[in-house]
Amino acid sequence: MNRQDLGKIEESLKAQVDGHIISTAKNYARTANRASELGLACDTWHDLAHQKSDLMQLPPLPLLKIFRIGTALEKPNLRLIEDAGLKVIEQGRQFTLSKYRISGHIDAKLEIPALCDKYIPLETKTCSPGTFRMIKAMKEETGDWHGMLDSKYIFLRKYPGQLQTYELQDNSEWGAWFFFEKTAGDFFFWIAPLDLEYAESLLQRAERINADCDAGRIAEPARKDLCDGCEFERSFCFVGKDFGPGYDFIMDAESIAMWTEKLERRYELKPIAEEYDDLDAEAKAFFKGRNTVVGNWLIESKPFTTTKYDLPDEIKKAYAKKVEYFRTSFKRLDGGIK
Ligand code: SF4
Repeated sequence: MNRQDLGKIEESLKAQVDGHIISTAKNYARTANRASELGLACDTWHDLAHQKSDLMQLPPLPLLKIFRIGTALEKPNLRLIEDAGLKVIEQGRQFTLSKYRISGHIDAKLEIPALCDKYIPLETKTCSPGTFRMIKAMKEETGDWHGMLDSKYIFLRKYPGQLQTYELQDNSEWGAWFFFEKTAGDFFFWIAPLDLEYAESLLQRAERINADCDAGRIAEPARKDLCDGCEFERSFCFVGKDFGPGYDFIMDAESIAMWTEKLERRYELKPIAEEYDDLDAEAKAFFKGRNTVVGNWLIESKPFTTTKYDLPDEIKKAYAKKVEYFRTSFKRLDGGIK
């Protein structure tokens, strides 16, 4: 058997596993408000997830694979915490807040004697290096989890709603996240107090959704930043949306195949490039002006001079001219991590 034949067999094995991942990722009609979704600030989305789940577009395969990692690491992370001697109970316990038709399952409850005398809800989250650093920086710089509510990453905006719902349900003043970075294996805890005002807003959202579902009503879609790549964007809310004037469509199969592959690869590499940029900036700031040996690294940081021209504004204006540049953005049409 030659290399090509072996390659075909390997590809078919991979295709079978990919197919399995896709076939097990089904959308289903919500019969309750899921704690993990309640933080999503769009009533239309929730109404549709309950009443028209058949219109919900499945996430793309790369995203389904990322979801698998989080699920796969949940139990090992809880095991790690337990093995370290921390007390963890009620792993994977289901709960409902029947008055609001909210359901969920907490990852576990954790004992923190230094904080309070009862076990508090614990939620484990597996993160890419970039997300991990972003959340850690937020914690260290502000200590305020509300920053997640405005994150450019939509999935991050849902984390507080989930934990706050668990705290409400558990009648607990505290909850905690265990953030785990899946590449380096680093982690940190973040203890979050219950914010009654925010938690109340979640209950109000649940009440609105319940009323809509009882009345068979779908809240009117309103364009917002959540819409880009939303599972209902092109199947319900903004069907047939063209992309406005000035768009052309690449139609030849060869170009589509080539550019799709390149753009997918670009999408995969983006978090790694961002991690590189962050590390590069951190290292350059730390070693600025120092000649250092650390481990097997030799670092030299030498000053150099360049000439800067600080011209008066009137002279600058006299030489000003318009130059055209292009700002190019890439947006997945089938959703993706935002
Ligand atoms: S497309 Fe926009 S309005 Fe429609 S469900 Fe999604 S986020 Fe809500």
